[in-house]
Amino acid sequence: RESKGKLPKYPGLERYTLLEKMGDGAFSNVYRAKDNNGQYEQVAIKVVRKFEMNSTQGNVMHPDYEKKAPKTVERANILKEVQIMRQLDHPNIVSLVDFSESRQYYYIVLELCPGGELFHQIVRLTYFSEDLSRHVIGQVANALEYLHEEAGVVHRDIKPENLLFYPTPFVPSKAPKSHSGEDEDKADEGEYIPGIGAGGIGTIKIADFGLSKVIWDSQTMTPCGTVGYTAPEIVKDERYSKSVDMWALGCVLYTLLCGFPPFYDESIQVLTEKVARGQYTFLSPWWDDISKSAQDLVSHLLTVDPEKRYDIKQFLNHPWIRQSNEPTQAAA
Ligand code: ADP
Ligand code: MG
Repeated sequence: RESKGKLPKYPGLERYTLLEKMGDGAFSNVYRAKDNNGQYEQVAIKVVRKFEMNSTQGNVMHPDYEKKAPKTVERANILKEVQIMRQLDHPNIVSLVDFSESRQYYYIVLELCPGGELFHQIVRLTYFSEDLSRHVIGQVANALEYLHEEAGVVHRDIKPENLLFYPTPFVPSKAPKSHSGEDEDKADEGEYIPGIGAGGIGTIKIADFGLSKVIWDSQTMTPCGTVGYTAPEIVKDERYSKSVDMWALGCVLYTLLCGFPPFYDESIQVLTEKVARGQYTFLSPWWDDISKSAQDLVSHLLTVDPEKRYDIKQFLNHPWIRQSNEPTQAAA
């Protein structure tokens, strides 16, 4: 993690003091920052570079020009991400605080999720208990219900890296014994250990609307842009696009419960083929002690035919989801 001194200064971002780099991607760096106006205590700022410069320096004769040519981050894409986020208001969705830009950068200022990615918690705990999984996936599902049924938005990039959380305050209860001795040491130091007994993991929030799309006009409750001449495959496409999020939800639930994803292969070709066929198993011994009800729910999400796949309402009505959480500790 970078120290304060090494953090860059961005023009036009004087309202905030950068504190720490939280993530970086091909085009964006995400920072934790302090709001000097005092309206928010802390925020997350996604700084997106407008141009990607590189060694080919725009030389079209360079053999790598195609591959490495400066790529422009499409203005329209950033504006769409911001525009969609602006319309959303749900406790399980990261809210947009502010948006601005300078000559070289876009600045997307977001509500801070101090817990970071759910992904790291899965890695840390190896897998989640059924209760903790339900507690997490239920919150993701509540956000999806809002997106699909109210806002008319499909996210299209649901995955553990894009699920962030706001941790419940640390409760120094008896920290759950973990398989690795390391975690026990951390628990002694008073580090936050998620578990239902300690109030769950906290509030889960869906982030990253970079690939999201408005499919349904929430005002008129009709498909976007449809005026009666739209082909059936387009209308169906719109219906199917929600089911994309449901598939991803199934992948996340599977991963929470056992600690590894339902589809994996080192070869991208083989992996693609497995996904296309919906080829996954409840691998023994990891799935031996996971309830049949949980497996049933996963299988209704990891259904290849989008018409037969559960939608969000069916998901929320499944007995495994409706079951109430017993106070319990984190993953065994
Ligand atoms: P990208 O399009 O590059 O994936 P994201 O919006 O997913 O951009 O942000 C990248 C990473 O930055 C996230 O996976 C997360 O680790 C971190 N991050 C993004 N937004 C926040 C936030 N509001 N609070 C805390 N961390 C965040
Ligand atoms: Mg992301």
